[in-house]
Amino acid sequence: MAARGPFGSGLLGSRFFWNLLASYAALLLVTGVLVGWQVQSRLEASLLRELEETLRRDCEMLAPLASEALRGDVPASLAAELERLSRATGLRTTFVAADGRVALDSSEDARAMDDHSSRPEIVQARAETFGGARRRSHTVGLDMLYVARRLNEGDSEGDSEGERVLGFVRVALPVSQIEGQLASARRSVVLGTGAGVLLALVLGLVLSQHFVRPIAAMKRTAQDLLAGRYDSRVRVTRRDELGLLGETLNALGAETTRRIAALSQEDAQLRAVLAGMIEGVVAVDEADRVAFMNQAARVLLQVAESAPEGMALWKLAPIRELEGLLGRARTSGAPERSEVELFRGGKELVFQAHASPFQGGGKAGFVLVLHDITELRRLERVRRDFVANVSHELKTPLTSIQGFVETLLSGALEDKQNNVRFLRTIEANVKRLTSLVTDLLSLARIESGALEVESAVVDWRDVLEQVLRLREPALLAKELILEVRGREKPVRVRGDREAMTQVLDNLIDNAVQYTPRLGRVVVSLASRDGQGSIAIADTGIGIPSADLDRIFERFYRVDKARSRAAGGTGLGLSIVKNLVLRMQGEVTVSSVEGRGSTFTVLLPLG
Ligand code: ADP
Repeated sequence: MAARGPFGSGLLGSRFFWNLLASYAALLLVTGVLVGWQVQSRLEASLLRELEETLRRDCEMLAPLASEALRGDVPASLAAELERLSRATGLRTTFVAADGRVALDSSEDARAMDDHSSRPEIVQARAETFGGARRRSHTVGLDMLYVARRLNEGDSEGDSEGERVLGFVRVALPVSQIEGQLASARRSVVLGTGAGVLLALVLGLVLSQHFVRPIAAMKRTAQDLLAGRYDSRVRVTRRDELGLLGETLNALGAETTRRIAALSQEDAQLRAVLAGMIEGVVAVDEADRVAFMNQAARVLLQVAESAPEGMALWKLAPIRELEGLLGRARTSGAPERSEVELFRGGKELVFQAHASPFQGGGKAGFVLVLHDITELRRLERVRRDFVANVSHELKTPLTSIQGFVETLLSGALEDKQNNVRFLRTIEANVKRLTSLVTDLLSLARIESGALEVESAVVDWRDVLEQVLRLREPALLAKELILEVRGREKPVRVRGDREAMTQVLDNLIDNAVQYTPRLGRVVVSLASRDGQGSIAIADTGIGIPSADLDRIFERFYRVDKARSRAAGGTGLGLSIVKNLVLRMQGEVTVSSVEGRGSTFTVLLPLG
């Protein structure tokens, strides 16, 4: 906190205050000295003038006496009288003859004194009747003030021009006599001026508060604004320019607050929009330093830093294609795009990157928009594979049928031993084609949404009973042990009975197909957390973990020959998955190769 003195908060800490005070004091001092010096010199001059006047009068008074004395002999009584007078008043009187000889002196022996005709006061008096001088006396050795008067022959008044000079009367006083008066006058002047300066200083001190305090308050507010405390305001109590300045500062604070609020709101909105975008957005400056990067971009480019702003993009994400794209955009100055393919943790990641130049805040940079098209690419591939798979799956039985038909037509029809066998093979292939086409049709119906899926409440136990009845012969044929758990309580789930039947039938059929003789199939029913579950576990051949992710894909089979031999189409699990999803459910698998597999279906409880 700033120093708080008797002159208000922070006044003594204000440099402006001290500057103002120093200038004011200097001004006062100079004025004081000038005025004092002026007064003092005028006072001194007037004192001297007054003294000179007195001395003139003394000369005037002594003139008749001196004329008389210069004409004849100086009576001894006069000399004694003047000497007494001199001792009493300090006034030295000298009568000088026209030739400069001293006729009488009240302080010295006149005969011992030298020629006075060249004394300045005598020279002046000879010319102008009166003469004055202030100088050191040769005779008495003191600083003296002299006044001399010319005395003319034949004129007792002694002032008519053109007459012969009789002599001079001269009076003198030691300056020391008036020095005391001068010193006291000087003291008064110094004291008076000093007191005046001091008083003015105190007054200035008090008055300066009036200006310095509002300036100090404004300085504080300006500093607050600079430091981001935009609610800081000056208390305006005056109507002059300082008051106006305070009001302007307050208005500036209010306007800044408003603008900053508007800007931060816009900024927050923009950031929220960019952050919420599915596309990755990266803004880089002209030196490829990141100015902004949203969460989607961080995920796509695998940037671990939560605040990558200011860092070089190539350090965060060293991707050559992106570098090349930005380079191209920089050269052309126009938007550019390219497709970037990466392998992350063994998985392919494909994204489309657009680089567009932007100009903002006086800086030029680029905005990169990254669009993840991995899934799109995967779907395209799946579609291509699907067409190839379907063609292949259809072609195999058709080729076989064609071969046998041709064989039969070219004479084998008459071959009693083989013709039935050939026809049976043709029948098996036709069946295979039929089931393939049936599965494909139902898959197409489910996927296109053409299949109506009801949302009824169905007891899963009923569906299970129905399916088991259907599959019992197959179970028995392979001597598989069947165990059903959790059938004592109803498990009512929401969905389509027909679809549920198809799902369970497919899963139990698979369990039978892929479990060797004397194996075991356990079906468990349960309901928990608002969901019903049915798990079909077998002790069959299991599924290698590398294939687990893919078995729900169309035509995906771990062992194609084995599946085909068992009459499988490779579409069963795909149909299961699609049906379960349509009923808002979920299907999962866990398996250990050579030990068995467990398929679990979850459906919402009704
Ligand atoms: P398929 O008609 O060949 O059985 P599915 O779509 O039903 O086709 O199954 C796909 C593949 O998943 C099968 O070819 C098989 O390799 C594997 N599979 C499915 N169920 C099991 C299971 N219970 N045990 C072992 N492998 C299975």
